[in-house]
Amino acid sequence: MKRRKFITNTVIGATTATALGACDRSSTSPSIQADSLPKVRWQMATSWSKSLNTIFGGAETVCQRVKEMTGGRFQIKPYAAGEIVPALEVLSAVQDNKVQCGHTASYFYKGKNLALVFGTAVPFGLNAQQQNAWFYHGGGLEAIQKIYSDFNIINFPAGNTGTQMGGWFKREIKSIGDLKGLTMRIPGLGGEVMSRLGVNTQVLSPGDIFLALERGAIDAAEWVGPYDDEKLGLYKAASLYYYPGWWEPCATLEVQVNKSEWEKLPKEYQEIFKTAAMEANLNMLAQYDSLNPEALKRLIENGTKLTAYSPDILKAAQKVAFELYEENSTKDTTFKEIYQKWNNFRQQISQWNQINELSMANFVSNNQI
Ligand code: CA
Repeated sequence: MKRRKFITNTVIGATTATALGACDRSSTSPSIQADSLPKVRWQMATSWSKSLNTIFGGAETVCQRVKEMTGGRFQIKPYAAGEIVPALEVLSAVQDNKVQCGHTASYFYKGKNLALVFGTAVPFGLNAQQQNAWFYHGGGLEAIQKIYSDFNIINFPAGNTGTQMGGWFKREIKSIGDLKGLTMRIPGLGGEVMSRLGVNTQVLSPGDIFLALERGAIDAAEWVGPYDDEKLGLYKAASLYYYPGWWEPCATLEVQVNKSEWEKLPKEYQEIFKTAAMEANLNMLAQYDSLNPEALKRLIENGTKLTAYSPDILKAAQKVAFELYEENSTKDTTFKEIYQKWNNFRQQISQWNQINELSMANFVSNNQI
């Protein structure tokens, strides 16, 4: 009823304006056109369980905001991992048009194209603020979209975790030697770096991590950070919580849309969808930054021991990571092309952030009031 009243008012307002010749644009007011736009119903597969309200919340934000901004004409229903397709098969489902869109992380699909890791996170790479700069104004999104066009998919960033934690361990990791022979859940290139440092790595979907860690099928596991890790109950299976999560200085989650379905959408819906994705990208990070400090306090109260990776481990991992990027560049031309531009961007923004963000953060952190 309220909406009908709003439209009626808008139509009256627009008619008056046109009659007065005040503004020709009023005759193309989006509120009036909306009535002629089609009803669209989509399904969104995701890689997440609904209990992870932060990450699954990113999918929900996109769906809810699209619905609200189209006055309910364009509705998308998000599904948890496994409801339509398994967690790590979202890309195929979107590519095959089993669902019109999905919410997932590009690095799950590095087997399909190695350079997709840059769409989520790479070890010692960009933080969330830098990643957004690279995506929206540094050519990053175009580069990742170019890869996805081979899969008849278009993608948009739709969430970010911020810098993650460095995982849960059952025994202390003081040196590189302590990593050798461990079995750890860790995906992406971080997993490859760990593997080169002697770790047996596994990629388990979030719902399977806790039991594997608790029953000893794996010795260590990483997921996201305090709030999400608490939800998975990981602190009940291992007590040492390492930081920082050097393999994910941020992690971008994304929406993937089947390109044929995307092209069928009216331009207005495409713009609304892009806006909703950008909102989810911003909102998820804000949510994490707000929820994580309290969650970390609770974890510590429940017996979690916070432990920093030693500088030796960090330096060794960083060296291996950049050797891996160079090596991948010799094997894969797409990887090389993106890596070179990305690395140039990374070096420039790192230098700038030394001056602005880091100098300020260092001062504040060393001079707490
Ligand atoms: Ca992670």
